[in-house]
Amino acid sequence: MSKRLFNFCAGPAALPEAVLQQAREELLDWQGKGLSVMEMSHRSDEFVGIAERAEQDLRDLLAIPNNYKVLFLQGGASQQFAQIPLNLLPEGGRADYIDTGIWSAKAIEEASRFGNVHVAASAKGHDYFAIPGQNDWQLSGDAAYVHYTPNETIGGLEFNWVPEVSAPLVADMSSNILSRPLDVSKFGLIYAGAQKNIGPSGLVVVIVREDLLGRARASCPTMLDYAVAAKNGSMYNTPPTFAWYLSGLIFQWLKQQGGLEGMKRVNDAKQRKLYAAIDASGLYSNPINVADRSWMNVPFRLADDRLDKPFLAGAEERGLLNLKGHRSVGGMRASIYNAVPEAAVDALVAYMAEFEKQHG
Ligand code: PMP
Repeated sequence: MSKRLFNFCAGPAALPEAVLQQAREELLDWQGKGLSVMEMSHRSDEFVGIAERAEQDLRDLLAIPNNYKVLFLQGGASQQFAQIPLNLLPEGGRADYIDTGIWSAKAIEEASRFGNVHVAASAKGHDYFAIPGQNDWQLSGDAAYVHYTPNETIGGLEFNWVPEVSAPLVADMSSNILSRPLDVSKFGLIYAGAQKNIGPSGLVVVIVREDLLGRARASCPTMLDYAVAAKNGSMYNTPPTFAWYLSGLIFQWLKQQGGLEGMKRVNDAKQRKLYAAIDASGLYSNPINVADRSWMNVPFRLADDRLDKPFLAGAEERGLLNLKGHRSVGGMRASIYNAVPEAAVDALVAYMAEFEKQHG
């Protein structure tokens, strides 16, 4: 029996053990059909059933209104940085973007290749430690859409509010989708790379309001046109079937956990414990404005970065994996997505206290 350790990776991230067990049980012979999901035609009744159930479960979890399409696409969240303007930004048009960190910056850079991008607000003035309030945003009157990044995976900055804008609101929820309930009706389009709270990498989920379909530029590649994907049930070509299936198992697991209200309770408890431990210590610190702290990605530094290596080595010895911060910022980062149990946070907090006693 292999021993599964506590994995704090930012993505691809921990998956629920129960889901992996089920996938293992079904791997060679899916429900007595004599073949694995990976070997099925995506057009078979079996796979279409798997795909439809996954979509319905996601709709149930997020209470997605009927006038939204759910698309299971490829190319990761990064491809959406281009796909969104190709579909929603007319030639010569303008889009507003909110800059709160590294992922918003990437979205801005890519969209700038396709049109006029107006950065309506930036956290730069706060050294990316706080989110500018909406009163300080300079939105354009004529924006085709407003794009923001509700959770900055690297910086550890998360909106705990939804912007009120008149243009369609577009959100990169790669690292916080499904972490708590959400009012989908406030958004024109939501997208999320799967490899944090949804499932394995190779899949990106797009939830798009129907009236935003059919606006793609004439030059938009067929494969990137949301309307084509929607019309073909996300099967214009061969989709990433196994990732889709596994994501469906995660959605079932989430329902068993009490849905997103259940996840919210656990995620809130996890983040409270971890930030409390950081704030109470003299060795660890997190610079983010308290109201804007991410529930999913908790970066922290040690007072002396010469302690980083011994901290990480000790963590690994105790089975606490992938706590090293992003290469661009250094320090530590604990990603505590849905599938990271509260026991993992308890173990981390205990280790942090023990390490501080020795080195503080
Ligand atoms: N946006 C956010 C907020 C992310 O965290 C990531 C990945 N860490 C991306 C976009 C890029 O995702 P992908 O690797 O799926 O392109």
